[in-house]
Amino acid sequence: MLRATSRNSALRERAARVIPGGMYGHESTALLPAEFPQFFARGVGSRLWDADGNEYIDYMCAYGPNLFGYADAEIDRAAIEQLARGDALTGPTELMVELAEQLVAMVAHADWAMFCKNGSDATTLAIMTARAHTGRRKILVAKGAYHGAQPWSTPVPVGVVAEDRAHLISFEYNDLASLERAAREAGADLAGVIVSPFKHDAFVDQELPEPEFARAARDLCDRSGALLIMDEVRGGFRLSRDGSWTHLGVAPDLSAWGKCLANGHAISALLGSEKARAASSRLYVTGSFWFQAVPMAAALATLRRVCESDYLERTRSLGEKLRAGLSAQAAAHGYALRQTGPAQMPLVRFDGDPDFRRGFAWTAEAVKRGAYLHPWHNMFICAALTEGDVDKTLAITDEAFAALRRREGTLEPHPVVAALLGARG
Ligand code: PMP
Repeated sequence: MLRATSRNSALRERAARVIPGGMYGHESTALLPAEFPQFFARGVGSRLWDADGNEYIDYMCAYGPNLFGYADAEIDRAAIEQLARGDALTGPTELMVELAEQLVAMVAHADWAMFCKNGSDATTLAIMTARAHTGRRKILVAKGAYHGAQPWSTPVPVGVVAEDRAHLISFEYNDLASLERAAREAGADLAGVIVSPFKHDAFVDQELPEPEFARAARDLCDRSGALLIMDEVRGGFRLSRDGSWTHLGVAPDLSAWGKCLANGHAISALLGSEKARAASSRLYVTGSFWFQAVPMAAALATLRRVCESDYLERTRSLGEKLRAGLSAQAAAHGYALRQTGPAQMPLVRFDGDPDFRRGFAWTAEAVKRGAYLHPWHNMFICAALTEGDVDKTLAITDEAFAALRRREGTLEPHPVVAALLGARG
């Protein structure tokens, strides 16, 4: 368990001088236990190495993008071969059309695709399309949901004015009455409803969608003429090889994708149904890097694997193995866990740990021993993980539970998290 940390500490000091706050957003170390490394040197398959050379079995997948393992040979070969031909050119290559065709073939509701870089680009395009389509302003958004870091969506509204969010109305995920209430408040100005495939908010238990809730969101949009927007940025292709609500019989009008679309290469997409095509074609939207061919080549290679491999079943069963193992260990050590959401996107919380002091201490003990687990954000299982990796992880977490037990009585709430949770109420 002897871990080197000097390079990471030196980088943190240098970063503090030239990077605002030393780091920003969810990567801000202020939001993680002090034992977590800030800087990484490389990743291969399910493994990460930090700047000091410490190795981790990684359960964050770069916060989602890594679906098939870091540095996947086949996907990266497609990217490298395209790089030799050209990447950001004066216009797109034919890969753009091929990728749009591929996504339209895979995702039941989609008749067209537009490409951009980040999930935030795609969710923002989605609400613009809904407004262009309807000529209305109001967008219903689930309370606590994350849809990106634009002024309309960032969870911490510093540098944001009330007008940026003036036409957003919140509802509670899975709560039909609150959805109807929000719709009544929007009245004849309702442009769209944005939802995630399941509730995957930070710091709270995850919730799968109630089928009645999903159907009610669809009905509401049909009745009012508003567009239903699915934010697939995090959950897309992790729950299904199609749209995430296809199995519920609910088709959105628009869906925003990103993260694992190209196994870590930078690309996101807005997919839409025929109904929304005319509106989206009237938007003026673009970006210097939106037509890069390299991530499109990587996306095509990734989607081929999505279609042809058993990644979905594998990640689900590995997640179930981890979940069952953790639950047995927790009980043996006298703890109760709340493990929520799909097994392949696990969130692990301690029961009776409102300020996350146990979650922080336990994940810190796991990180020190080589398993990168997260205390408050859902994790991700990648298809490069093996059963042996899960066994190794469970050996680590067993020790982490024992270490936590020894630390009971000395645990302190994390000050930044306590302030954040306090501010949220
Ligand atoms: N929507 C969801 C559900 C997300 O999880 C994220 C990123 N965590 C985004 C949108 C924004 O994506 P990006 O960070 O690529 O802009």
